[in-house]
Amino acid sequence: MSTDCLFCRIVERAVPATVVYETDTVLAFRDIDPQAPTHVLVIPKEHHPDAATMAAADPGLAGDLLAVVGEVAKADGVDDSGYRLVFNTGADANQTVFHVHCHVLGGRHLSWPPG
Ligand code: AMP
Ligand code: ZN
Repeated sequence: MSTDCLFCRIVERAVPATVVYETDTVLAFRDIDPQAPTHVLVIPKEHHPDAATMAAADPGLAGDLLAVVGEVAKADGVDDSGYRLVFNTGADANQTVFHVHCHVLGGRHLSWPPG
């Protein structure tokens, strides 16, 4: 869709990624700079800048994305041990890619608060 959007380019397979799960509407791939043994990004194939915008525009797509989170957690074996979901949104949260993505982090104890 948006050729200057990195994650749209990953959806188009114009930029390589390690894809771990895919549906008609959602793609999940490993973060290039993992912060935990499991660090997967789950994104809608359609471009939306952040989670709230996506949910307002297409609530079903937000549900699709969360369903894939569950499949990714199962596939990586962190569904029982636990995992953290993060949607960085905007400057104060250090969002760097403005195509909504859910970080799925797990496989080690994750401290809280995040800092
Ligand atoms: P955020 O700070 O929430 O916008 O996170 C963007 C994430 O995208 C970071 O964790 C990056 O490591 C990750 N990232 C950037 N480029 C790529 C890429 N080509 N493939 C996979 N993950 C990437
Ligand atoms: Zn995009």
